[in-house]
Amino acid sequence: MTAMTKLVFPAPAPTTLAVAGSTAVFPVGRVYCIGRNYRWSPDEAVPREMPAWFMKPANAVVPARGVLAYPPATSDFCHEIELVVAIGRGGRDIDPAEVEPLHVWGYAAGLDLTRRDLQQQAKQAGGPWEPAKAFDGSAPCTPLVPVAACGHPGRGAVWLAVNGLERQRADLAGLLWPVPELVAMLSRSVTLLPGDLIYTGTPAGVGPLQPGDVVTGGVAGIGEFCMTVAGLATPHQPP
Ligand code: MN
Repeated sequence: MTAMTKLVFPAPAPTTLAVAGSTAVFPVGRVYCIGRNYRWSPDEAVPREMPAWFMKPANAVVPARGVLAYPPATSDFCHEIELVVAIGRGGRDIDPAEVEPLHVWGYAAGLDLTRRDLQQQAKQAGGPWEPAKAFDGSAPCTPLVPVAACGHPGRGAVWLAVNGLERQRADLAGLLWPVPELVAMLSRSVTLLPGDLIYTGTPAGVGPLQPGDVVTGGVAGIGEFCMTVAGLATPHQPP
């Protein structure tokens, strides 16, 4: 784009995330989400295959606070608590040993919100997951914590509760693909860029949310959140 380029309408401002302890904000690029990356049962075999990954648009990322909108087109709106990795330096074919020292900018706690009924339909039909995963506001995230402040959390609790009752709890040490291997794996499939976020997968205990539910969760040493699920939006009435 040159100085002469004329946009047909103003470009939208970038989606940004707050940074803990700073007035600067993190510009969000792409949002990658990893499928099964914890054992959901003790006897589950460790998969050797690369887990599934999918994407959400950058503007699906919203601050994890206040009201959590109940999305349209679902009756099975589900929570998935996840460690979020923020990429500060991009690359492809990244060596796992270089992921932490060179490429990770920081960490956050995020929700990979899911319209589970649409995901089941997509699995059965062999269709894409976007209707289940890539809806408005589907990726709430706490403020990012720079590596300089939190280091690299190889262990620590990942948890979520609804109305004070715990539903998900695991330890980061249980990630089947730990962050260095996960980022390296992804970089063999796509060129990672500064600003990319990676939602690293959710432990067992995913479940539905109802209007009025209070959702709390977090990642130890990284961030915590509390959100209240909004009432159902009034259906759009054609004139
Ligand atoms: Mn997920």
